Amino acid sequence: MARPHQPDSAATAALARVRGRAPEMRANVRRLAAFANVHSCPTAAVAFAARIDTNKVLAGTSLEMPFGQSPFAIGRGVAFEALLRRHGHAELRRVLSEGLDTDFSLAAIENLREGYQPNRTGLHMRATVTQTRMAEIADGPAEPVILDGAVLQADIGGLQAFFEADEMAIGVGGQIIVGENKSWPVVDGKPTDDDALGAALDQAATYVLLGRQTLQQEGVDPSKMSDSVVLVTPRNTGLAPSLHRQDVSSRVRRIKRLLNAVPDVQETAAETPHEVTFDEVADKTRHESLRLASFRHITDVLGTVYDPANCLTSCGFAWACRQRLFADGDPAVVGGAVARALPGIASLGRVAELSHGAPASNAEAPAAIPLARAGRLYDEVTPRATGRQRRTA
Ligand code: SF4
Repeated sequence: MARPHQPDSAATAALARVRGRAPEMRANVRRLAAFANVHSCPTAAVAFAARIDTNKVLAGTSLEMPFGQSPFAIGRGVAFEALLRRHGHAELRRVLSEGLDTDFSLAAIENLREGYQPNRTGLHMRATVTQTRMAEIADGPAEPVILDGAVLQADIGGLQAFFEADEMAIGVGGQIIVGENKSWPVVDGKPTDDDALGAALDQAATYVLLGRQTLQQEGVDPSKMSDSVVLVTPRNTGLAPSLHRQDVSSRVRRIKRLLNAVPDVQETAAETPHEVTFDEVADKTRHESLRLASFRHITDVLGTVYDPANCLTSCGFAWACRQRLFADGDPAVVGGAVARALPGIASLGRVAELSHGAPASNAEAPAAIPLARAGRLYDEVTPRATGRQRRTA
């Protein structure tokens, strides 16, 4: 994962040109997880390397995707965080004490959310303090300690990025334990949203991985970072906090592989053709048709790997890509598995013709036989509804 270099000025300029006026994004765990789902797509890879916020590039067009938390969920999250920190973190101390079987009532709390500038300089300072404190604590403090708002620094594809963890409960058996606060409820011991639970555990696992890297840089045994993380969530429909422990070792291994797959920005910048820029796509003063034509040109130059299951959940370009594939009749619009089952067939229109028994070319022959068979079966089951005219050989 660690790449010791930073992009040179030519690469930095090239990536700035690719980004143009497109909104920039900061790498965070959620963005990384989303990119991991679509990392094989060249267009997504270039957008990620240029740190383009794909969720916002098409803002103002009919193909802008509705990403983002609802105001209700954001409000609930803010209220839950405030509850945990009220009266000297009393509720956080209580759940950690109960869940970790260690007395946190007098634990020192280092609040890294306050006293630092809300910018990159502030993040850098918080990351330095976090690294120092982690090394000190891993040396074995007598009392438990909580770092609130710890920041971990990492090299992601050749660019420095900062990741802000909720808290790290430290001093539990000489180990460092990652803690994440989530405001979605756990009802009768079960999370109400399995996807949200998976994302939270991936987030915590990423902090474990980056925390180990941080310890290594300090010359400290990385195994001091526990594989077991804690999630603090409301119990049932109220906001009363409860704690859950979970082993994330398999997630840590998976995320390590995913981070290694992040493209190197230097290489991406060197390989991206000069004509590729998202500047005109993001330009809200231009007519929608022109913006979408610019997007189409980029995807034509770079290429795409469309898979509805991943693209629709992880890339802000998904509706634009889907519309383009649909207009072209490209089989990829229905998913990679179906497209792979139709080798040599250029369009969905051609799929329909072959299923009607049209003669196949040599390239189409492997898929033509099962298609014709499927078409016959379909006609037998729905003869009146289809009213299709089948060719006979
Ligand atoms: S939506 Fe389009 S650009 Fe994004 S990952 Fe999928 S194919 Fe690539």
